[in-house]
Amino acid sequence: MTTFRALVATQEERKFAASLRQLEREALPAGEVLIRVAYSSLNYKDGLAVTGRPGVIRKYPMVPGVDLAGGVEESSSPQFRPGDQVVVTGCGTSETLWGGYAQLARLDAQYLVPLPQGMTLMQAMGVGTAGFTAMQSVMALEEHGLRPGGRDVLVTGAAGGLGSVAVAILAKLGYRVAASTGRGAELGEYLRGLGAGEIVDRTALAAPSKRPLDPERWAGAIDSVGGATLAGLLRGLVSGGSAASCGLAGGAELSTTVFPFILRGVNLLGIDSVRVPNARRREIWQRVARDLPLRQLDAMIRVEPLGKVVELGEQILAGKIRGRTVIDVNAG
Ligand code: NDP
Repeated sequence: MTTFRALVATQEERKFAASLRQLEREALPAGEVLIRVAYSSLNYKDGLAVTGRPGVIRKYPMVPGVDLAGGVEESSSPQFRPGDQVVVTGCGTSETLWGGYAQLARLDAQYLVPLPQGMTLMQAMGVGTAGFTAMQSVMALEEHGLRPGGRDVLVTGAAGGLGSVAVAILAKLGYRVAASTGRGAELGEYLRGLGAGEIVDRTALAAPSKRPLDPERWAGAIDSVGGATLAGLLRGLVSGGSAASCGLAGGAELSTTVFPFILRGVNLLGIDSVRVPNARRREIWQRVARDLPLRQLDAMIRVEPLGKVVELGEQILAGKIRGRTVIDVNAG
């Protein structure tokens, strides 16, 4: 492959543009491993990048796509050989490194993880950064003492990508899962199918309250929404419980009191999936392969062509996407 198709984002005279282009292979940045990309995925951050919202792309021109999965074509690293199947999730891709919305990618070996056994490239992108972060959050909660058998674990933004994977993993591990969503009427059955026992209306959870604490309700929480939702769930965590804060789909502001922390000793765990060392990345992927049932994963995936990614980006920012969207970079 001497030329390849890519979505290229540019910014000239403050004007953002993203379009499909045919690039020469020499245009790829330097890196140890050349990958023929099969699939990428659509995360909230991809929505921001492909629609020109600030805060993601730090260098132009950029090939967005924080995730990619494919086969190694060439490698100067002893860790990977041609023919190996590899996975990359957000590691600076779409920020300063070219990402997965292209038929070819070149990256250093430190960012690559072997495709976990038993999973296809398409399924790995069904997991993608959102699913990787869901697993990372579950592991962080476990490392702070969460065990099955207690009260419900709350997942917010449950019908989204990160939320859907979190619900399925927690249910498989034997936790009772409460899924908070703004689309309960439409997607309640979908969430129950992933393993949610209870559907919680997101408006009620985020409602303003003068009370510093609510009755103890959640054994732990995975929050991809932030804002008033995170403040609301903190009031209802059990003594010693933890909330994994991983997203801001509902707002970046956090207005809370210190009472959940000083009267109940709750923990607010910050989750960042970008700066994760390679050994830990591999460990997280092994847990995904073990703890995410493939039947549930398949139920949350839809596959779309590369040509639709900008339109899909607007949809994910509007909270209209269900589950995980895999991008077939060789289609459309
Ligand atoms: P999705 O859009 O797939 O999911 C977000 C969900 O949040 C929506 O489906 C919706 O769920 C809910 N939501 C959307 N808008 C609002 C709103 N205004 N108020 C309340 N709830 C809302 O995105 P992802 O799952 O890909 O990402 C979710 C968040 O996690 C993003 O902020 C993303 O940046 C962050 N993230 C962080 C990572 C990290 O490393 N920390 C890694 C990956 C993602 P419902 O309809 O069920 O209510």
